[in-house]
Amino acid sequence: MAKIQMRTPIVEMDGDEMTRILWGWIKDILILPYVDLKTEYYDLGLKYRDETDDNVTVLSANATKKYGVAVKCATITPNAQRVEEYNLKKMWKSPNGTIRAMLDGTVFRAPILVDGVTPYIPRWKKPIVIARHAYGDVYKATDGKAGKGKAELVFTDENGNEQRKLVHDFGDNGVVMAMHNTDKSIQSFARSCFNYALDVKLPLWFSTKDTISKIYDGNFKDIFEKIYQEEYKDKFEKAGIEYMYTLIDDVVARIVRSEGGILWACKNYDGDVMSDMVATAYGSLAMMTSVLVSPDGIYEYEAAHGTVTRHYYKYVKGEETSTNPVATIFAWSGALRKRGELDELPELVDFANRLEKATISTIEQGQMTGDMVGLFKKEGVTPQKLNSKEFLQAIATRI
Ligand code: NAP
Ligand code: MG
Repeated sequence: MAKIQMRTPIVEMDGDEMTRILWGWIKDILILPYVDLKTEYYDLGLKYRDETDDNVTVLSANATKKYGVAVKCATITPNAQRVEEYNLKKMWKSPNGTIRAMLDGTVFRAPILVDGVTPYIPRWKKPIVIARHAYGDVYKATDGKAGKGKAELVFTDENGNEQRKLVHDFGDNGVVMAMHNTDKSIQSFARSCFNYALDVKLPLWFSTKDTISKIYDGNFKDIFEKIYQEEYKDKFEKAGIEYMYTLIDDVVARIVRSEGGILWACKNYDGDVMSDMVATAYGSLAMMTSVLVSPDGIYEYEAAHGTVTRHYYKYVKGEETSTNPVATIFAWSGALRKRGELDELPELVDFANRLEKATISTIEQGQMTGDMVGLFKKEGVTPQKLNSKEFLQAIATRI
């Protein structure tokens, strides 16, 4: 069989620990036998990030801007313990944070559904995708303790004029916080959400609490509405999908009652909280994909989970592990499909679809990694636990 040809390379960002091991196996077993793979390779493993003073992360983000599609393996975000373990020059910043900032992107997280794993909310038949604004608010806030006295919000404009607002006249001890966002970042967030909704043909719901936060959340609501009316209304109507703005409490209630099949755009904090709830409700973090989309249509695909350190330490000792590679496989298939769409290569798009179908049917027919066995219930099918490599080989026989 002739291998499928590619035109433009995908930016390949290798990573750390168990996911780095899975990365190599996925390529060897599921991709290289079928695709004449073209990638531009960047090693984001912690050792090489340290050797290059983290410059490799910046180079990989720039390459992503150039080519438009990247696939990323999970990476270690160093803490004090990792600085010691890897003898690092410095506690390098999160690569995901660096890449997100450089691409000005929004993160979309979507669950992978299989027949046999029922979500904890059994009404959910279709995926609920969460779009999380990844800049500002409480994540870039200034806070402090207050005692008896006045807390004020002061804005000094470029000419030195001051505007003052009373936050609270404290009669006793308390706490105070100020946070911000920028119109530019909110506009990027809005365009990324509208583009992604059109891309995957899902209705878009956006929620804030603008009845209480009239100016701050009201600004989010207004920016979304203006961009929708001016740039996306016609496209949404043509695609047959809706855009709806409503209060966050209302969306939470609607989401629980829904069958899924919705793209839910959340402010930073809401997205942080709600994405963990949604991921857990669907069954497993190992079955959650994540894609970073920039407002100008650049895509970086990855798994939502980390480097699975506990399994890696077992692997290093020579033990077999049953680590779930599904989200990483879907990161690859997402990137290959997008590359195929952009380069008009139907065979590549078709291969990405087949890879996903083969992965899902392997599980549905009872062959899976250990984390899935306890979640799986299907009449007439007894789940069988495979190690990671056996599972990948079982998928390959179905491609
Ligand atoms: P983690 O790697 O997601 O793993 C936490 C636990 O979840 C694992 O020990 C395992 O549970 C289970 N798990 C996660 N993914 C799994 C999979 N594919 N198959 C089977 N089980 C899976 O999170 P962590 O241990 O908190 O973080 C480890 C490292 O990953 C850290 O250095 C962190 O910086 C990094 N991280 C990177 C990213 C990223 O690059 N996007 C995201 C998050 C964390 P059991 O041990 O019970 O089997
Ligand atoms: Mg969180």
